[in-house]
Amino acid sequence: MIYTVVVLVSQIFLLCRGETFRSILLKIEKIRSLIPEHARIMALTATATERLRKDASRLIGLRNEIVVAISPCKDNIMYVVVESDGIEKIFEPLATKLLQKQASYPRTLIYCRSFADCSIVYSFFKIYLQKNAAGTTLPDIPGFRLVDMYMSCTNPEVKEKIGQLFVIDSPLRVVIATTAFGLGIDCPDVRHVISFGLPSDIESYVQETGQAGRDSFPALATLITKKTSSRFFNKTVKDYAINQTVCRRDLLFSHFDNYSRTYQGPLCLCCDLCQQICKCTQCHTQHSLYSIIQ
Ligand SMILES: [Zn+2]
Ligand SMILES: [Zn+2]
Repeated sequence: MIYTVVVLVSQIFLLCRGETFRSILLKIEKIRSLIPEHARIMALTATATERLRKDASRLIGLRNEIVVAISPCKDNIMYVVVESDGIEKIFEPLATKLLQKQASYPRTLIYCRSFADCSIVYSFFKIYLQKNAAGTTLPDIPGFRLVDMYMSCTNPEVKEKIGQLFVIDSPLRVVIATTAFGLGIDCPDVRHVISFGLPSDIESYVQETGQAGRDSFPALATLITKKTSSRFFNKTVKDYAINQTVCRRDLLFSHFDNYSRTYQGPLCLCCDLCQQICKCTQCHTQHSLYSIIQ
């Protein structure tokens, strides 16, 4: 008789329990000891670095495993790192363009690291739009807002509404969220993912950026670093944030299985570092996604 045992570790579960992927793997090791030695095992994961994948194989007790992996690199995304010099300075250009373009502004997702950051960034947009939107009379209710906020503690009905509005043709252009946003939401035309503050690990960062450009059209992933807090972070993430010499795409995806550079677009749409050495004739014209945040 053949039995199939499925052990599912959901990302929602990890977030709710405040646990990391590694701490859960240690528990799976115990479950593995209950499974016969000769049993066949298939382990599946979404974004995982080569190192994490090897750790997982060892902890699950895989031997002579066959690895099937594709690089999570998406050539339609441009990678940018910007150092923050205050919420107003960093987000005011975006808020100004949002006000000009309103419902035609490119869909943008701003990931924050805490409820407090989420609330502060949301308040900035709310106050800025109210102060500068003379003449507009849109009611401040879901369905009419240009900007909304989504956190794990947000009312489930509001969450569902935001999830719906962000995937259809609606005025909602900017969602300010914790990583709770994205689980179960498939919005194909997010043009800009802004990560405000360093993520906890490089896998999380790649998952965030993967929300951009799911429709395969050009998109932008911006990491905003804060001067004050970088010394406490994961080394791989910190190395990515302070890098000034290597193409950001190459550095980011060198940590993952099977990455080899396939990017063939102009250097000015690869990353902000490649942009500095681009010699194409269209640099700095409106085709550059980088202009969204300048
Ligand atoms: Zn590059
Ligand atoms: Zn160029």
